Amino acid sequence: MARILVVEDESAIAELVAINLRHAGHDVTIAGDGEQAQRAIDAVLPDLVVLDWMLPGAGGPALLRQWRQAARTRSLPVIMLTARADETDKVAGLDAGADDYLAKPFSTNELMARIRALLRRRAPEALDAVVQVGELRLDPATHRVTRYADGVEQALRLGPTEFRLLHFLMTHPERVHSRSQLLDRVWGDHVFIEDRTVDVHVKRLRDALAPAGCAQLIETVRGVGYRMSARALTPSG
Ligand code: CA
Repeated sequence: MARILVVEDESAIAELVAINLRHAGHDVTIAGDGEQAQRAIDAVLPDLVVLDWMLPGAGGPALLRQWRQAARTRSLPVIMLTARADETDKVAGLDAGADDYLAKPFSTNELMARIRALLRRRAPEALDAVVQVGELRLDPATHRVTRYADGVEQALRLGPTEFRLLHFLMTHPERVHSRSQLLDRVWGDHVFIEDRTVDVHVKRLRDALAPAGCAQLIETVRGVGYRMSARALTPSG
């Protein structure tokens, strides 16, 4: 399940896109202009944005440029929609910082396929693919976490927040994530939840992984945040 923001003032198109995304299991918010879009992003950071080029007030490209300049939204995955299919617009859209570009009228199937592709590249924690780090395996579809070693499978019990946190860390291994980044990507909120909340859930996650000897997969990087690293495991596990 991905949090997707659709920024489009033509409500028929916005609704069509939203219905298809919801049908695919995603959580969709619609914004009719740049101001609404900014408010939505300030409240909850989406996993992906579908951004229309032509909007009332400042258009899509101006909005996108603004997002690319802010640290929090710099790497937000964005697909831009436009009524015009000519080459110069395509180049301008990509120049403004769009990850992908689709001209209207577009096929809904193609938009869905491109959204899936972009999520796979940039927000794999929003998809249902099984992930594995070391001997640890997480299946989002069945909500199961197991450790498989020496022919023995051991199931681990995790709370819902610990599960989401582990899923995010496993899909972005070896990178250090600050507490505010984790709040944005796992909780969807960086303002109304305290940084300390992250520490509490990391501790719970380590406690849940400890029976399988996997607690050390989650490293504390002092003064920065947390990292999941398979390298932290000793050869004996
Ligand atoms: Ca429009």
